[in-house]
Amino acid sequence: MLYYEDPYKKRIRAKILKKEDGKCLLDRTILYEGGGGQPADRGYAICDGKRERIEHLGELWHKCNCNIGEIEIELDWDFRYEMMRSHTAEHTFFRFLQVRGAELIKIALSEESSIMFKGDIKIEDVLEAEEKTRELIKKGIEVKSFWISKEEVENYPELRIKKERIKGEKVRVVNIEGHDLSACKGIHVKNLREIGDFAVTKFRRGKKKEVKFVVGDKAKEFHYSMSKTLRRVTWEENIEGEKFERVFSNMLREKEIMSEALKSLSEEMEFKKENCKGVEIAYRIIPGAERKIIVRKMMEFTNSPKRIAIFGDSISHAVSCAFSEDMKHLRDLAMELIKKLGGKGGGSERFISGSTPDEKEFIERIKEGICKNI
Ligand SMILES: [Zn+2]
Repeated sequence: MLYYEDPYKKRIRAKILKKEDGKCLLDRTILYEGGGGQPADRGYAICDGKRERIEHLGELWHKCNCNIGEIEIELDWDFRYEMMRSHTAEHTFFRFLQVRGAELIKIALSEESSIMFKGDIKIEDVLEAEEKTRELIKKGIEVKSFWISKEEVENYPELRIKKERIKGEKVRVVNIEGHDLSACKGIHVKNLREIGDFAVTKFRRGKKKEVKFVVGDKAKEFHYSMSKTLRRVTWEENIEGEKFERVFSNMLREKEIMSEALKSLSEEMEFKKENCKGVEIAYRIIPGAERKIIVRKMMEFTNSPKRIAIFGDSISHAVSCAFSEDMKHLRDLAMELIKKLGGKGGGSERFISGSTPDEKEFIERIKEGICKNI
């Protein structure tokens, strides 16, 4: 195939041998048919004085509307070259993850490419693999491709290959010198320098992990924009750049402690109680309370008859009310009051929650209203 012989060829003349509805069979092509995670190429056919979009559909069949005869094919080079660079970057980067225990599941190359894999890989591994990939790009390591027979595979113990996926008799080997040998039918660049730059843009943890990455100017821009964000935060907060990681992890720890403190506060805080015509009304304002715990306590309290619980959060301005079964007819009263005070709310038969601009006023007025309507 011409795209293997010269992956940099952008234009050729070809012949249309057969034509079927919207499809043409060519005698040769420079458009890659797709595979190995790399999408099929697209381009243009110049025929009958027109320039039409074409796409390789596989086995030399192309999506095209030209008539039988000679045509000129022009490759969508920007797209192809980005795929070639992304593909070679993927080999380079993944090899570094593989030696740390990653097992490839699949790749999908595109404007932002994705690698899915298994294994005990941590963020430090990903960042280190990224760093090493960028180093090899700067060094300008050569990339060579060649064909071997299936039998010869044994002579390459380092070769990354999924034997069950090899369909033909021949295997194409992509060699990033001194770094990686991989069986792959995609199209790659000749030298890692062509990738320009590499950036991991996302890392998804879990059993199946995923890394997304970009190459070239996009990678440069990504690194720069992340560095800009970091500087904005450190300058605004007056933190020295080098100390940011420590300050940030301290903040996270403090947040955890605060949230634990709020949980136990919510658990231990007693509601105030009032009695109106034999109905017990429990109420309380707790700033930043742990909502789940409060709701559970309110529901528990109102499991017995003649009980109502009212709650307000002075930080989020959230309010809620719970009613015992025999008091649930008062629920609409609470909903109306939330609306009257300019808030919104919703809920179930014996529980409502919402927000109002002033939780204190809500609690005072709902107590009054309930007492009048009992
Ligand atoms: Zn490849």
